[in-house]
Amino acid sequence: MKNIIEPFKIKSVEPIYFNTLEQRKEILNTAHYNLFLIKAKDVLIDLLTDSGTSAMSSHQWAGIMQGDESYAGSSSFFRFEKTIQQITGFPIVMPTHQGRASEKILFSIIGGKGKYILSNTLFDTTRANIEFTGAEGVDFICEEGKNPSIIAPFKGNIHIENLKDFIHEKGAENIPLCIITVTNNSGGGQPVSMKNIQDTSVICKKHQIPLFIDACRFAENAYFIKTREPGYETKSINDIAQEMFSYADGCTMSAKKDAFANIGGFLAMKDPVLALSCRNLLVITEGFPTYGGLAGRDLEAIAIGLNEVMDENYLHYRIKSIEYLANKLIAAGVPIMQPAGGHAVYLNAKEFLSHIPITEYPGQALATALYIEGGIRSVEIGSLMFGKYNKANELIPAQMELVRLAIPRRVYTQSHIDYVAEIIIELYQKRHLVIGLEITEEASMLRHFTAKLKPIKN
Ligand SMILES: *Cc1c(COP(=O)(O)O)cnc(C)c1O
Repeated sequence: MKNIIEPFKIKSVEPIYFNTLEQRKEILNTAHYNLFLIKAKDVLIDLLTDSGTSAMSSHQWAGIMQGDESYAGSSSFFRFEKTIQQITGFPIVMPTHQGRASEKILFSIIGGKGKYILSNTLFDTTRANIEFTGAEGVDFICEEGKNPSIIAPFKGNIHIENLKDFIHEKGAENIPLCIITVTNNSGGGQPVSMKNIQDTSVICKKHQIPLFIDACRFAENAYFIKTREPGYETKSINDIAQEMFSYADGCTMSAKKDAFANIGGFLAMKDPVLALSCRNLLVITEGFPTYGGLAGRDLEAIAIGLNEVMDENYLHYRIKSIEYLANKLIAAGVPIMQPAGGHAVYLNAKEFLSHIPITEYPGQALATALYIEGGIRSVEIGSLMFGKYNKANELIPAQMELVRLAIPRRVYTQSHIDYVAEIIIELYQKRHLVIGLEITEEASMLRHFTAKLKPIKN
């Protein structure tokens, strides 16, 4: 098979700075073994997130110059609105400064004590915004989605039976919303099938529970549907996206993902009554409805990015380049979540560092070891991010201990990825040298951003 080449050429470059193993040890120590606390210039290959880290196209940069900065009625807003209406079919579109601002607005209105928000898997900011209102977020991931080594096409699917049972048990009146995350970021970047979205929508409609889509990676999900779900092979990405949204009542989106923008997001919906309350809050927290939390130029860049992301040559390269890294690791015996996700490869830290107990955060130990070995920044998605404590102050671990290598869009070339694979494989060969970590300081919510840790030496 021929090499899949990057479907772009490079017009503007940005240096990366090299450092030594000894320097990295020192840097990590100063940052208390928390990779969020490291300076970007001290990172060689930054796979912390694919959020806001995309390279914009020359077309988007040209759009930046054309941004209309009028306070009210900006023409950039109307381009933004029309693009989102075309893709989602939702008539009401509100720009926000990023995804979590959309969540904050939505859940402030529909959340509250005694209520449940249902999902395949809630992303961390989504869960935090739900819990902040006193409501509870509940995940219903399908069985195959819980097992990192099972190969299945749609491991992001909602567990339909469990969802039904829960609605019967708690009563639909206590469930103001169901939200499907596509692709399922916290569950390995795994896609959700069209059939599963449709089935969920049938149940939600029956109980009059609005269904929203967390649409951050709608185009990557649409590409998986096209290539994995029978009947969609010849459909365009735009058609598939339209069908996905047709089963829902609204969506939240971070434009920092599949819109190739460095900032931005939106909230879109059908219901004019809900929209009225959302818009009132939007004006207080984000801005006037035709700019939300954004500059006119951002609206322009997002509108252009949303159309670019649906290009099949791009999506083919995108999905194949993630698979490329995954295949190299699998060939070397490195335990990863299979199949590869849409935006990231997830190392299975529980297996990779099987000698480190869960209470010593094997995911974070692996992520920090990768930084020391090769200057690669990744992120733990495990018990540091999602762990809780019981009444006896013992750790209730997360379902999985993963380390996510998120690949920024259109940023790194194949040789960068080859280097990443080399470092991971080298580390795997000497994995027994990696030791566990303990937390020395933490916040009560979203603790992974600021927690301080240290190695457990004995
Ligand atoms: C990034 C992300 C969000 C939050 O978006 P921000 O722009 O970071 O606020 C919500 N859901 C998912 C699935 C995400 O990946």
